[in-house]
This record gives sequence, structure tokens and C-alpha cells, in this order.
Amino acid sequence: MTGNPGAFQNDTEIWDAASSIALSHVSGEPSVSITNALTVDVEDYFHVSALAPSIHRDSWASRESRVVGSTQKLLAIFEQFEVRATFFVLGWVAERYPQLVKDIAARGHEIACHGHSHRLVYEQSHEEFHKETLRAKKLLEDVTGSAVLGYRAASYSIVRKSLWALDVLVELGFAYDSSIFPVRHDRYGIPDAERAPHRLPTPGGKVIVEWPLSTARVLGFKIPVSGGGYFRLLPYWLTRRGLNSINRDEARPFIFYLHPWEIDPEQPRVSANLLSRFRHYTNLDKTEERLQLLLREFRFGTTRDGLAQLGLLSAIN
Ligand SMILES: [Zn+2]
Repeated sequence: MTGNPGAFQNDTEIWDAASSIALSHVSGEPSVSITNALTVDVEDYFHVSALAPSIHRDSWASRESRVVGSTQKLLAIFEQFEVRATFFVLGWVAERYPQLVKDIAARGHEIACHGHSHRLVYEQSHEEFHKETLRAKKLLEDVTGSAVLGYRAASYSIVRKSLWALDVLVELGFAYDSSIFPVRHDRYGIPDAERAPHRLPTPGGKVIVEWPLSTARVLGFKIPVSGGGYFRLLPYWLTRRGLNSINRDEARPFIFYLHPWEIDPEQPRVSANLLSRFRHYTNLDKTEERLQLLLREFRFGTTRDGLAQLGLLSAIN
């Protein structure tokens, strides 16, 4: 496989064909009974960190917003498969489209917080982070009338140098975080972080529940198989094998994530560098089909329910 997007696409098609053959022998039932967490980071295509150098935040308000339509599309798919998910909603989106947040909550999904501005945590001061996170949490709670317990940072930007943010989350009343990615990446990641959901001591001496983005051990490598760009770029059989190994070999649930823009191949194209364009646009037209395969093969629920089942959060009242 090469870094050339054209060649990659051809290879992906071959892998997809191979995985379809393999799947033809699999029944529609989930392969194991473990309930995994299904999560959506609710933001527009122009919020994405990979495109940030090409899109000034002052231009957000004047761009064509696609988030309501593509989130509704995800809601319809989840309804078809009768699954409930956790939606980490960006405050910026909730402020403009409160009805969307109400619609998500009304269908029984969990509303959680994706911050307000999509600024990376490690580019904010302690005070800025406190202020914008409180603003987003309060906004979501006012719209839904329910407590928001979960947080996910923009671009998984809770890294070693921004672990202080966990203390702010505890202070603001969050029960869990899902921002730490145990991988090496140019923008995020704590490569040697614990991989399973766990109680994580904070630098300030408190404790928060952490559900790190899932990685799997496949063919001797630690592979991020938990969604987003990895879901679009890796062949489906590799994602499936990795997720199966977490459920079967490690006997625990994984957490999977997606963005509404990832099932929107019609979104306006933004000029950016080759790597960013590759990460953002590759296989957008295949994600919906792959998502349906995934929902057919694995069992899913909300993050909150998953953590309650693991005994890491108290049961939902
Ligand atoms: Zn995001």
C-alpha cells in the first residue's frame, strides 16, 4: 500500500471486496455479546482541526452548515439498527442548532460535551479552558434539562502536557472523559497510556473515569481501529479484526467514534495541504455502508451505559 491516494483507493476496493467475501459467511448477529460504546462528535466539516490552517474561525458563521442534515442521517441509521449512542456535541453547534440537540436527546441518545470552540486543549490557558468548557456544558444542560457527564476534547487534545484539564473537568462536574488516544500522532496521543477504560488519577489528586480511544493489537502492531479517519482509511477487514480482538481476546468493550461530516460526500471541498485532504476526504462515499456493516456485526450502546456495566459509573437513574 502506498501513500498515493489513488493507489490507496484501488487497494481499499480490493480489501473491501475481500472483506465482503469473508462477511458472506457471517450471520447478521453480533459476534459477541459485549456492548461497545458508539460515539459521534457533533461538529461541521469546517471545525475539523486538519483543515484549521485553511479555514479561519471568523469564516465559520458564513459557511454552508451541513451538520444538521448529516447528524439527522446518522440518527436515522441508528434508529434502523435500534442502537443508542453518545453524541459529544460542540457548544458552537448547540448554540446555533438547539433543536438538533433536543432531537438527539428525544431519541434516547446520551448528550455529552465536545467543548465550545474546537480549540485544542493544549493551546488554551487553564482559565480559557475552564470558561469555554463550562459554557458548553451549561448550554447543553439548559437545552436538554439533563446533567452532562461526559467530555471529549477537540482532536483528542488531552495529551501529557494538558493533563491538567482533567482537574478542570472534575471541578465542572464531569464524571468521565474520552479524550486520551494511546497512539503516536502529530496532533494528539499519549502512546503508552492505559488502553482500557479505567479510573484515572488527575495531577491535582482527584479521580476521573477515562475511556481512551480504542486501539487493538493486530499482527503484533497496536492499531487505532476506533473510528474516524482510521475507519475510512483502513480496510474494513482490519477494523473488524481489531475490534473483534478487543471484544474476544481482551474480553472488553471498545469505543467507536464518527463525525457527521464523514457520511456527507457532498460537503463543500476546502483547499488544504495534501495530507489534510487525504485524511479528510478519502472514502467519504464509503463510510455509510461500512457503518451499516459495523452496526450489523457488533453490539453498541452509550458510553454512559458501557461505563456503568463496567462498574466505573453508577447506574443510570
Ligand atoms: Zn472534533
